[in-house]
Amino acid sequence: MKHRITLIPGDGIGPEVTSAAQRVLKEAGAEIEWEAVEAGALALEKYGTPLPDSVLDSIRKNKVALKGPVTTPVGGGFTSVNVTLRKQLNLFANVRPITSKYGMSDRYLNVDMVIIRENTEDVYAGLEQDIAPGVAQTLKIITRVASERIARFAFDYAEKNGRHLVHAVHKANIMKKSDGLFLNTCREISNSYPDIQFKDIIVDNCAMQMVMRPEQFDVMVLTNLYGDIISDLGSGLVGGLGLVPGVNYGEDLAVFEAVHGSAPDIAGKNMANPLAVILSAEQMMRYLGEDHIANHIKHAVIVLLTERQYLTPDMGGTATTTELTDALISEIVH
Ligand code: NAD
Repeated sequence: MKHRITLIPGDGIGPEVTSAAQRVLKEAGAEIEWEAVEAGALALEKYGTPLPDSVLDSIRKNKVALKGPVTTPVGGGFTSVNVTLRKQLNLFANVRPITSKYGMSDRYLNVDMVIIRENTEDVYAGLEQDIAPGVAQTLKIITRVASERIARFAFDYAEKNGRHLVHAVHKANIMKKSDGLFLNTCREISNSYPDIQFKDIIVDNCAMQMVMRPEQFDVMVLTNLYGDIISDLGSGLVGGLGLVPGVNYGEDLAVFEAVHGSAPDIAGKNMANPLAVILSAEQMMRYLGEDHIANHIKHAVIVLLTERQYLTPDMGGTATTTELTDALISEIVH
């Protein structure tokens, strides 16, 4: 079946890794009509805004997008395109599976966790101000509605995917109101899912436990900032950001993107690991009901990584983005 999908190549390594994913999808037999739109630094130069309406319109129309990373200026400049996109499209759930099954970490062999991050509020609400000289304020917004929605999503995800445990990660010992509301809401929702075990954990302890005994975690539900930080920590356990895919779900929309950013330090050097975006594309195929294509891609990735011949520098090898992609494609077509 032919699919019409929005493509946002993004900034930095974005165009390199998304074009690798497009090549892989094509060779794996996916029939896709791409609608490419620009967001990020280039869009700002060209259209005067980093997130033109055409991007939002295209995703609303096609319902599915593959997105490369977009640069956000630090300490000033334009508001994050990612945050605006997620808010505008109500992409409330960010799902990031973290697994050691690709064998890229010698330290951790039994990692299989799924991070479910609330995507629309918390300190990402963008409510910041200078309240006096030398005093700045960022508001952390947590609502019952958004907490309920993400908690339900996490338990439903656990149920549908044969998982048995959901951890709510919080700092409710200090932020008794905001994190307290999130935690209490998760606990209430857990009562409707008697077959799924529920536990809670304070975020700093969670970080330590993930490094010491990551195998104890199954599904984790977190507010926006903790979800962001814990995802990168989880990526580090299993071989780095180049291996972790992700999806942002709305009510009827899904935007597939890697956890990693635009990696300006390696952009344009043909050395980025394209696998995180390729695995995001694999998840996209599954979402579209193309399990056969998804399985084909996943199998090829596993074979490629097991052979350890074509690894990009982040995985300890010397292969270029193109060489890795070519090797993956020959695995798919052979
Ligand atoms: P980053 O993820 O871009 O890079 C962190 C480190 O990981 C760098 O050393 C980079 O070289 C490496 N890395 C990341 N992806 C890689 C890949 N595919 N292959 C090999 N190495 C890879 O994080 P950062 O440096 O904190 O952020 C850079 C920019 O990206 C910032 O502007 C940030 O706002 C943006 N960002 C965007 C997204 C997104 O669009 N979803 C997510 C995170 C960060």
